[in-house]
Amino acid sequence: AEAQLRQVQKMEAVGQLTGGIAHDFNNMLAVVVGGIDLAKRRLSGPRKEVLHHLTNAMEGATRAAALTRRLLSFARSEPLLPERVDSRELVSGMSELLDRTLGERIKVQTRLGTDAWPIFVDSHQLENAILNLAVNARDAMEGTGTLSISTENVTLAANQVGDVRAGEYLKLSVGDTGCGMTEEVRERAFEPFFTTKPVGKGTGLGLSQIFGFAHQSGGEVGIESELGKGTTVSLYLPRTEAAAPVRLHSQTAGGQSEP
Ligand code: ADP
Repeated sequence: AEAQLRQVQKMEAVGQLTGGIAHDFNNMLAVVVGGIDLAKRRLSGPRKEVLHHLTNAMEGATRAAALTRRLLSFARSEPLLPERVDSRELVSGMSELLDRTLGERIKVQTRLGTDAWPIFVDSHQLENAILNLAVNARDAMEGTGTLSISTENVTLAANQVGDVRAGEYLKLSVGDTGCGMTEEVRERAFEPFFTTKPVGKGTGLGLSQIFGFAHQSGGEVGIESELGKGTTVSLYLPRTEAAAPVRLHSQTAGGQSEP
């Protein structure tokens, strides 16, 4: 029975992983298609603009290629190696991508500490997490609003957020001025395949993937949301020196709020 249970859990993990990758891949293809489409429309316009859109498309394609490489390395059972990441650098490097994803009517505000503690994570997964959060925020804001990305060094007591271990964390928050969540949605938001979006729009995998990423990085994720006001999702990622070995968690539904 033990082995059977393990097998079921393994299949669940594979399902979640595959779905998550499809979700990311789709986001990247949207960037490629969008870039090529814009370039096509600007063909008779300034050469600089056409080149700009093509460069964006190229970047999306490069990301997609990196993702499939990671998938292949996973299939070969090569572990993803976390690395020391400077959050300020990583988020700054995403500003173009974020502007493009959010459109002109959503303002991006960043408050990234120069003294932000370095973290120990897979940088591509962190980028995907932030991109996923930005897409959710865009959907919640229906076109206009402000997306804010901020970092803060925090020292947490055990279980202060979710089932986090006591220690030093970088709190990376992505907030929006969108529709917010009901209590029921907040509680279920991390469940794989839970979505309130129409068929074809939502997969319900974004937040469950982020939940998995945070836990596998030895951290946590929490949601604060107020209906009609907005939502902030915060990732708590262990400070490099405090980086813990990979911790495997079952994916329980856990909308964790902060104290
Ligand atoms: P998807 O976005 O594909 O639906 P997610 O797992 O990312 O899947 O999100 C699950 C649900 O959580 C969404 O359908 C939505 O109802 C809610 N949600 C996620 N992010 C936000 C947000 N920023 N504001 C309001 N609701 C959100």
